[in-house]
Amino acid sequence: MLRQMDAYLEGLVSAEQFAFYQAVCDFADKEIAPHLLAWERQQQLLPEETIAAMAALGLFGLTVEEQYGGQGGGLLELVLMGLALGYHSQSVAITPGAAVSLGIKPLQLCGRPEQKAAHLPELAAGKRMFAFGLSEPGRGSDAANPETTATRIDGGWRLRGEKCWTTNARWASHIIVHALTNPEGRHGHRSTCFIVPMSHPGVHYREMHGKTVWQQSSTGAIAFEDVEVPDEAVLGTVHEGFKVMVTTLNGGRLFIAALALASLAFALDACRTYVQERIQFAGLPIGRFQRVQDVLLDMDIALQQGLTWLLHLVKQYDAGTLPRESAAKVKIECSRRASELLPLAMEICGGVACLDEFGLARHCRDLFVCRVGEGSNFALKTMATRPLVPRIAALLQ
Ligand SMILES: Cc1cc2nc3c(=O)[nH]c(=O)nc-3n(C[C@H](O)[C@H](O)[C@H](O)COP(=O)(O)OP(=O)(O)OC[C@H]3O[C@@H](n4cnc5c(N)ncnc54)[C@H](O)[C@@H]3O)c2cc1C
Repeated sequence: MLRQMDAYLEGLVSAEQFAFYQAVCDFADKEIAPHLLAWERQQQLLPEETIAAMAALGLFGLTVEEQYGGQGGGLLELVLMGLALGYHSQSVAITPGAAVSLGIKPLQLCGRPEQKAAHLPELAAGKRMFAFGLSEPGRGSDAANPETTATRIDGGWRLRGEKCWTTNARWASHIIVHALTNPEGRHGHRSTCFIVPMSHPGVHYREMHGKTVWQQSSTGAIAFEDVEVPDEAVLGTVHEGFKVMVTTLNGGRLFIAALALASLAFALDACRTYVQERIQFAGLPIGRFQRVQDVLLDMDIALQQGLTWLLHLVKQYDAGTLPRESAAKVKIECSRRASELLPLAMEICGGVACLDEFGLARHCRDLFVCRVGEGSNFALKTMATRPLVPRIAALLQ
């Protein structure tokens, strides 16, 4: 049966972009889907050979300029990859997704030419990854004021503190650390970003075990114990690190919206297959019940609306005209709608839906990260509401 998402996507992107999306779908059907259950049951992170296979497809270099060995695409290609891989597993999709949208993007945004030349070719080839070190044990939504500090030393900086919830930590060669450098500065002008090698003395990584979501994705806690880095490690402008982080997150939020829609698309297809096959009462399939049809149609409407809206915004992002609030709004809405609908999708399939092999329970769990990650929906609402109430926003400045 044709995926319902494919029918919508074909009309929203170019033939070349759709062919790329289908190639990633083929890869995911053959190289990801058959192994997912075993990986999950063994609580195993994504195997390195699968990461290498994704790298060979060019997925880590999608948005990197050709001069650095990338594919020269935009966020649109990244989002198509997220839809194709996320259809089976968000945690598989987030591995190249975060490597590109959170690891490579800050370097592209404000890296110096020598930093780009030193890192982008290997990042684009998937031989290395950068992780995004914004969140800390004591600083989640309140990320503008990190507890991690960087103090001036002769010719460089000394970093102390801890980052957590760091996606791809297990595979990262470097982490971009957001650290307080100017405590007395204005809000948003107190921090600086640093590129820190994970192998540096004083950098201690541990995997955060016990996570019930995104199970194949690596999530690390990384401590910095008097880590000394040279001035060349500064990414962007000193004291302007928060701007680097929030600008990066705009693209990341569109990617998270794509993951939410990918889960919804999987659920819709699983349900429409199942309700046409499952026979109950009078030898007829359960898909004849109007309540079951209501859920299917609500999923279908949410998917079509979400894809149309998201791809419109992604094109704005690639053109450099996307308002920050729009990225927040589409992430809020796609994750909220999918999260409301997935439990209903499970319900219309009955008991079978709670089996891991059915797939819906995985997507239901993983949607939690779409609501909370890259800015929790509740916290983002404050920011997204500001343009609606400019006089109140001015009072809060
Ligand atoms: C699997 C996973 C992967 C992640 N990967 C990364 C990563 O690679 N790099 C990284 O830096 N971070 C990462 N994160 C962290 C993520 O971005 C944070 O979880 C998120 O920013 C929220 O922070 P918090 O969890 O500390 O929640 P808190 O800030 O403690 O907030 C808890 C809750 O309080 C409420 N709340 C907080 N502030 C407000 C507000 N202003 N208005 C209204 N309500 C509010 C909301 O309900 C919110 O969900 C990851 C998280 C997860 C779960």
